[in-house]
This record gives sequence, structure tokens and C-alpha cells, in this order.
Amino acid sequence: MVALAVFAVAAVSSAPGPAAAAPSVPRLLVIQVTWEAGNNSPAAPVDRSITEVASAVHRHRDWYTAVSHGKHTGWQTSSTGPISITPPRMTVPGKCDGPFLDDVADNADQAVQEQAPVPDLSVYSMVVYYFARMPSCAAGWGGGGRAWLNGGFGLSLLVVVQELAHASFGLSHANGLECMDPNGQRVTLSTSCASLEYADPFSAMGNNAAGSFTAPHQFQLGWLSGRMLDVPAGGGAYALQPLENNGAGLQVVRFKDGGVTLWIEYRQPIGVDATFPPNSLGVFVHAELPGFPSRSQLLDMAPQNGFFDSKLSVGVPWANPLGNMKITVKQQTAASANVYVEWKHPRVPNVVGSTLAQADAALAAAGFVRGTVSFPVDDTCNNIGRVMNQNPAAGAMVLPGTAVHLSIGNRPSHPCP
Ligand SMILES: [Zn+2]
Repeated sequence: MVALAVFAVAAVSSAPGPAAAAPSVPRLLVIQVTWEAGNNSPAAPVDRSITEVASAVHRHRDWYTAVSHGKHTGWQTSSTGPISITPPRMTVPGKCDGPFLDDVADNADQAVQEQAPVPDLSVYSMVVYYFARMPSCAAGWGGGGRAWLNGGFGLSLLVVVQELAHASFGLSHANGLECMDPNGQRVTLSTSCASLEYADPFSAMGNNAAGSFTAPHQFQLGWLSGRMLDVPAGGGAYALQPLENNGAGLQVVRFKDGGVTLWIEYRQPIGVDATFPPNSLGVFVHAELPGFPSRSQLLDMAPQNGFFDSKLSVGVPWANPLGNMKITVKQQTAASANVYVEWKHPRVPNVVGSTLAQADAALAAAGFVRGTVSFPVDDTCNNIGRVMNQNPAAGAMVLPGTAVHLSIGNRPSHPCP
């Protein structure tokens, strides 16, 4: 059956909001779609005004502008509808699967282009289809320049922001890592981890609230230039400003350790993160692991109790069990967090000047072993019978168990002073 347009179709109109956008801003068309029951689909009646729909979608602009620090100002939003379409096919009753969504979009595009005057859909880089709630379906979908919003929850900022990110950037969900130790106990990170989809409650790519995109996601979008640093191999100390701070300054550091890329960011209840309980926010660590479905895996620093307590507490170091570094938040204020990235193992102790017995004891206490011992002449006479040189040197970052080679001073043929 074919349903002709039974509702008056408004001309494509601009949504309320800031005055004329710059020409470079890409364009988005919101189509409010309606249909009668048919093709196994329940009816999608007109459940709210197109003004309400367009306003809800339009809110994405402030969000994108803030989170990207102005690098992506969202889409110039226009709207049309409600427009009646042939009911989309629901091949499995109650399932809004691919064919259903394709039908909604294709039928709506066709109906819009049959309007007079004919809007040219090619000027829009994004088309958003809104319809009254289909029960037991997701709140939204996005991909390939199209987004679908399902009923009232589909118009929440969380769903709008997320579906536009799927549709425009192919951004994945913000996941969390659920890791187990060999005894089956939850731990922050191990070699036995599952990626829990949507589990990061602090990102709009999860399913809790429209919080900031995480550092690895913002990096993927090219939004972190000027705000991030790579930690050198020896580690470093950094004052991180909150990720939501819309000013200049360092906000993100990352490093690779044990096959995992670790991203460190500092979150505070400001900007798009203002709705979170302040004490749930702080320094978060995300892991990017090869072969995992999302680049953004939240590490839970208190893994027994779900992901809302994932932050790294001040003064409690977290050592990467897969690598050699540890992360410590030494101090934290509303303005910044002082984060140290350091070698997690003992450094090689200084044994120069020690007797061989003293050196053996000091090395063993720090987890190292004595390597070769040589007896070169000590022309200075300062370390006769004592360690003249050690290799690796004092303070070196080498793995526990490494052999430390020693040279013991031998008396020269000339008289010592
Ligand atoms: Zn999604």
C-alpha cells in the first residue's frame, strides 16, 4: 500500500538558534517521519511538533563546539515534516533492523523530494529521521551520513550527539574493560579482559549521559592538537587541565606500555560534564588495545563496583601489570591535576664505593643480581677493594633480575698517597 502525504508539509525551515552560520558549516536536515500501521510496523503517529524535534537536534551544536574547542561547530540545522511515508517493512516484528531503517530513510527521502518546491537533498551532509517511539527498539542509530531517532529518548542530547558521531565520523561506542585475574577476581587490567560496550558512563558514546568524548576519541577526530603530549620513555610529570577547559593548556598525555596505549585525562564538573556528581570525576585512564572493538576502553581503578568509580584516586599509584610504568595523581585541584608517569620497578641502586659483599646485598635487596666482576687497576686509589664502576649505572630503568656488572679497584704498581 502507498500512503500519500496526509499532513501539510512545511517548507524546509531553519531551526531556532544562533544567527546565520558561516558557509563552511555543513548542513543537516531533520525530517519528522510518520506512517500508518502496515508492513508489520506499528503506526508512527505525529507525537510532537517539528519545532520540538528540530530544537532538540539543534542542541548538538553547542555540545560539539564546546567539546571540540571550536574545531567542529556541528551542523547548520534545517527541518521539515511531519511527512507521511509508506510504512517501513518490519521483517521481524518489533525489530528495527537494517531493512526497516533503510525503508524509513529511503521512503522519507523520496517523499521529501516529491514536495514542491523540491528540496535538493544533496546539499545536506547529514539527514536525521525522527519518528514516534517504536517499542523494544533502540533509541537511535547512525551511520553513513544518516541518523535515526526513536521517540522522546531519541531526542535526548546523549542520543543526538552519539548518532551524529556514528553517522558522520564512524565513531565507536565508549567501552569499559572488564578484566579478571587468574583466580577470577575483577582487576583493572590483565591479559584476560572483555570489552563491555557502552560501559563508560562519562562519555556521550556510552549510554549514561552526554559527557565529553574521551581523549582517544577526541584524538581520533583530530580535536586534541595543542592539548596533548606523548610521554617519553623515561616518564614525566604533568599538570593536566580539565578536558572541558576551553582554553590553551595541556589536557591529555598518552604513552605505550606493555602493548597497550594508555591515555590520561582530567575531568571536572564543568561544561558538558557539569551534570556528573563532582566526586565521580577526576583523572581517568583509557586503554587502547590492539584487536579491541573500540579505541576507547575505560579502565576501572576500583573494579569491584561498576564503572562510576573508575577515577584514579589522589596518592594511590596504579601500576600497569602488562608493562613497566605506573601512574600517580600526586595532587589535584579544580584547576589541574599533577600526574606522574614513572618506572614501576626499583631503579638500579648506586653501589660504587661499596665492598663486594655490600654491593651484593644492595643489589639483591632491590631485586637485581650481580653480573661479572673484573679487577682493573684503580690509579686513583679511591676504590681499592671496592666497586669502581657498575653497569648498568645507578638509577637505570632496567627490569628486576637484570645482572649488574661490577669492577673492583686493584692496587696500582705505584705507591698510593
Ligand atoms: Zn550508538
